[in-house]
Amino acid sequence: MTPTIGSGYHDGMRALTIREPRSIAIETVETPPLAPDELLVRVSACGICGTDLHIYEGSYMGSYPVVPGHEFAGSVESVGSKVRRFSAGDRVAVEPNLPCNNCDACLNNRQNFCENWQAVGVTRAGAMAEYVAVPESAAFEIGSLSFEEAAFVEPLSCVVHGLRKLTIRPGSSAAVVGAGPIGVLLMRTLRACGVTRIEAAERNPARREFAGRALGIPVVTDATELRQDEYDIVVDATGVPAAMAHTLEAARPGAEILWFGVPDSDARIGFEPFAVFRKGLSIHGSFTSVRNTIEAIELLATGAVPVTDLVSHRVGLDEVESMFGILAGGSADALKILVLP
Ligand SMILES: [Zn+2]
Ligand SMILES: [Zn+2]
Repeated sequence: MTPTIGSGYHDGMRALTIREPRSIAIETVETPPLAPDELLVRVSACGICGTDLHIYEGSYMGSYPVVPGHEFAGSVESVGSKVRRFSAGDRVAVEPNLPCNNCDACLNNRQNFCENWQAVGVTRAGAMAEYVAVPESAAFEIGSLSFEEAAFVEPLSCVVHGLRKLTIRPGSSAAVVGAGPIGVLLMRTLRACGVTRIEAAERNPARREFAGRALGIPVVTDATELRQDEYDIVVDATGVPAAMAHTLEAARPGAEILWFGVPDSDARIGFEPFAVFRKGLSIHGSFTSVRNTIEAIELLATGAVPVTDLVSHRVGLDEVESMFGILAGGSADALKILVLP
């Protein structure tokens, strides 16, 4: 394989490595070697997500050391010998979850539960680096989308996967608990699906103000303030057990509930199962996505789900650790933080 031009290609690249929980190094490392079916992507924008924070804190299934970063877009720098769909200069977003396509789960169209699951930025080197190697099958053309918009393809594909579990009817109503970047993506996608009345709950004043203005909707301070027995669809985007329990109260009889936020793995929840029976509720969970990238790109490309106003910070690799601190504190006004390596 002959590497093409690109600053730093021959001399290695700058990368952020999580060596072990709570230990970050910014260093010059070897530019990833390419397998015949892989692309080398020059990273233009990479979102920081809760999963990166969990890997940093040691509370997620990361393998160490690892370069984090799985929500990203960039341009193809070079391609392996067997790559057919791409050539240098193509602009791509990447689906970071890499199913083996050869286990019982994959062969049953449940690639998100692949028994040999790998993921860019979790089990193999990710995009908080100048370059990242990805399989061709994980890369998608982004057309005229900006790289910053395309950095939302991955979280939006998870949102699409979650909402596809629901029966969304034109003119239905929804409440969303949690109005951070994911909550706003959920609300905008619900709207694109025909939900006409949306209300939200958010504790952070800056996020509350942003969501109210960006969506033109009422945003209450706490899930307990949502009306009871009111909404056709209720989504939790917090993963906080008390908030999740309140989704059952806000739901009208016959409603569907989506628990989208990621709770702590040892969290417990208290609620009255009688309410689920009496109100005939359907409760859905959602884990990553299954081939929803094209749908996500379509939602972005058509403007059905705008995202640029969600970017609150643009930082270099050197600033990522302090951003982890801000996100962990939960008190800042941050929405989406993009790393521009
Ligand atoms: Zn993520
Ligand atoms: Zn598999």
